[in-house]
Amino acid sequence: MSAFETQVQKDCGLDLYASKFDILQVNVGFRCNQSCQHCHLACGPDRREMITWETMRDVIMVAKDIQPHFVDITGGAPEIHPHLKRFVEALRNDGHTVQVRTNLTVLTEPGLEDMPQFFKEHKVQLVASLPCYLEENVSIQRGNGVYEKSIRMLKKLNTLGYGLDPDLPLHLIYNPIGPFLPPHQSQLESDYKRELDDRFRIRFTGLYTIANMPIGRFWERLKKEKKDSEYMQLLREGFNCQTVTELMCRHQICVAWDGVLYDCDFNIALSLPVVEEVPEDIKGFNAEVHQKRKVRTGNHCYGCTAGSGSSCGGALASGSS
Ligand code: SF4
Ligand code: SF4
Repeated sequence: MSAFETQVQKDCGLDLYASKFDILQVNVGFRCNQSCQHCHLACGPDRREMITWETMRDVIMVAKDIQPHFVDITGGAPEIHPHLKRFVEALRNDGHTVQVRTNLTVLTEPGLEDMPQFFKEHKVQLVASLPCYLEENVSIQRGNGVYEKSIRMLKKLNTLGYGLDPDLPLHLIYNPIGPFLPPHQSQLESDYKRELDDRFRIRFTGLYTIANMPIGRFWERLKKEKKDSEYMQLLREGFNCQTVTELMCRHQICVAWDGVLYDCDFNIALSLPVVEEVPEDIKGFNAEVHQKRKVRTGNHCYGCTAGSGSSCGGALASGSS
């Protein structure tokens, strides 16, 4: 049993089991046009891992079976995948709500210019990374030129109705540039709305704050800077029981590019698939069995429970952070 699991049991009186399938998350591969310094999956242009069409078909079958609230497509940069459109069309034809996580800049790449229009036509919900409304902070974390391209793309998405039309939601994602917890989500959302409106007349639906997990490139950097112990202590000391029932691993199943099943995208980064007691490959998926699976945890899980908590859908609890 991990130290995290013991603390959840002792302090919150809970055993960490999955309880339902609100979300079917699919990581379609690690290739990305960016190489951000905080990326927990160490994605970049040189990564070759890509989901096959056969595995996408397996995902479509699982979606039919479990009827999640939405299918959440992530990567890497999902737009780079040659079968993304076909995949989205199949899911939408089956009546599913589909969400794509975009880094915005990839939509300016040659050959992908029509993707925003495609997303609009298929009513794909968008979740876009923008770790700050200030250029300096975005450049530090995501590279030079990323801010300008992101702003340009947000303006384009607004002209298509994203962030304005209730059928075309556009959420932004904030994550801290350093080893500290995100500020309060609703307060930061007000700041983002004011600043992006004043500076660029950009509108968006809402903001998700996500903590940096102690894994991947972010963790490697902290180790180099000898700030890893301090950050881990901050996460442990911030443990908040109010976040535990909402942990995303309890409400989703995550399929990696190679068809292996995980509790969350962070566990993909650590090669920690679902517990041994349940089938690990999507071909062995069994809704009844997987829905009641025990969650596989580790020290990194403290990144989800510190302060207001953190998930791919933002903070998990109100309160201090
Ligand atoms: S954080 Fe997102 S945009 Fe940056 S390298 Fe990773 S997948 Fe790409
Ligand atoms: S890292 Fe994954 S398994 Fe751990 S608490 Fe967060 S969502 Fe759950």
